[in-house]
Amino acid sequence: MNFSPVFSGTDAHLAEFVCRFLEENGALLEKRNKVVEALLPKELAESLGVVEHFCISPETKTIQDTLLYPVHFGAPLLDRALTKAGSKPSLARCELTFHYLKKSGFDHLIKEQFTFSKSIGEISSVAEFRTQYIILTCRYLAQSDEQKEGLVTIPLHEETGAFVPELDQLLLHQEKSFSTNRQQTFTKNRIDQLMTFAKPYISETVEEKTIDFRKSMNRRFFRDTTSLEEYYQALTEEMKQSLSRSGLSDRGRAEREEKIALIPQELALKKKDLLTKYSIKVNVSLSAVLIVTTPAVRIHFSTKSGSVKKMISMTYNPITKTIDPLVCESCKRSMYRIGFCKNMHLICSNCQAAKCSRCGEII
Ligand SMILES: [Zn+2]
Ligand SMILES: [Zn+2]
Repeated sequence: MNFSPVFSGTDAHLAEFVCRFLEENGALLEKRNKVVEALLPKELAESLGVVEHFCISPETKTIQDTLLYPVHFGAPLLDRALTKAGSKPSLARCELTFHYLKKSGFDHLIKEQFTFSKSIGEISSVAEFRTQYIILTCRYLAQSDEQKEGLVTIPLHEETGAFVPELDQLLLHQEKSFSTNRQQTFTKNRIDQLMTFAKPYISETVEEKTIDFRKSMNRRFFRDTTSLEEYYQALTEEMKQSLSRSGLSDRGRAEREEKIALIPQELALKKKDLLTKYSIKVNVSLSAVLIVTTPAVRIHFSTKSGSVKKMISMTYNPITKTIDPLVCESCKRSMYRIGFCKNMHLICSNCQAAKCSRCGEII
């Protein structure tokens, strides 16, 4: 059964995974409005610690008559399904099938998507192949006086580390077949390497998603700082006025003057406390990995800069219906504006003022 049209939102693929898992283990599933109703064999229900009849949804919502299990990261049902499926860390795999795969018109796509600086190029061969995309889902926790948490999803081409934005969203509409058996082990090393490619995109996305949170913390910091300053200013004035009052002994006056002199120091300390209170610490951890195997098209593109030649491998991605970006060999960022160092390493426009980290040549 294809569950994609039932679920929507960022956690949809998790709910889909749980449905596939239940179905493969003998549960009867039926689509209802934005939820899937599940009837489990007694043993399966017992082993998962759930009732035999319930509904699944990526969101928390109320449904009449039937118990609802929301599926999101940290949801007990998802954790147990993943443990039973034998995946650690949370790993799911799916395969895509395309009845039609683009066969021509790639030169037009390349022209539309890429610019090559100081070089020319042409397609030398085109061939269908199978490739993998990796959807890394990370949980972030931004902590300050309050905290905010959420998920970011970064899709990468497994072979090159190219960042393919929106692939995860487009995947929701694809017919997929999920598999819960471990045909291929994904080493921690490989995941770590892919996380290196993903890191700048994770930071940018977390930054975007926490913009209101950061603004609110900044606003409160300035509000509290202003009222603190106003308070100490009023206090200073009041104490200064009290100095001119009659009946104050010399000792009393000296003590008060000393207190007034200490106010700026005290204010500075209080301001420092506020800065600590409202500063924001962000933690990101990898929660789940979805491996998507799909047919795609490998394009060999032959480029020439001066008299030096280089063959570039490009990938036509049938999910996004575009060619995946290339990856800068110096900084590992994905790019569509392609430059070369003297040794024909692929270099992005940000790196063009620097040294190529592959060969040390100034670009
Ligand atoms: Zn670069
Ligand atoms: Zn180089």
